[in-house]
Amino acid sequence: MPSFAAGVVRFQNDVYPEKKELFEKLSKGQSPEALFITCSDSRIETAMITQTDPGELFICRNASNIVPPHVTFTGGMTASIEFAVAALNVPHIVICGHTECGAMKGAMNPEGLDALPHVKEWLSYSKAAVAVVDELAPDAGEDERMKLLLEQNVILQLQHLKTHPSVARRLAKGDLKLHGWVYDIKTGDVSAYDEASNEFAPVADRYAAEVAKHAHGSHTCVA
Ligand SMILES: [Zn+2]
Repeated sequence: MPSFAAGVVRFQNDVYPEKKELFEKLSKGQSPEALFITCSDSRIETAMITQTDPGELFICRNASNIVPPHVTFTGGMTASIEFAVAALNVPHIVICGHTECGAMKGAMNPEGLDALPHVKEWLSYSKAAVAVVDELAPDAGEDERMKLLLEQNVILQLQHLKTHPSVARRLAKGDLKLHGWVYDIKTGDVSAYDEASNEFAPVADRYAAEVAKHAHGSHTCVA
């Protein structure tokens, strides 16, 4: 039995009974706090990183957390974004890139992707980010260029997101917030984009007010 199938049995026997009430509540509907768009990379565990339960994140994953700009034909990302934003009315969208991203390495060196024609074509949605890195850091080393590319790709996909009519409508209404993150697989650090300063900062700093509010909330609960 593969380990993931054995895991289902453990889930049914050990985990489900402990959260039975939550799962029964979730069977009646969902009201996620965010549409969370991240890479398919197996090393990213969204629930663990964000400490969320089932029902809290509506998740879309693909190679390199890409959001194709809105076009007239339908795609999986377009339909999922529309559903999350216009039907579920999520108040937040997070695009979360990550370190050691194999697809982003491919975007930086597309000549190595000849045997993966669909990956190569998919990564054309990141070309503008590569162009920005070429302009900002033409002489930087590979590590620095990759760090910059991960950030610029997130910023680019946030721009693509704004071309989707459902997103544009909610942004105009003022009840949808966009977030750009980069997760560091090795250290567990998550940095978040600040549009005002055009820089990435640790989540604890970027969301200092919200973090303090939640810490205060749990403190008063205990007290
Ligand atoms: Zn990746």
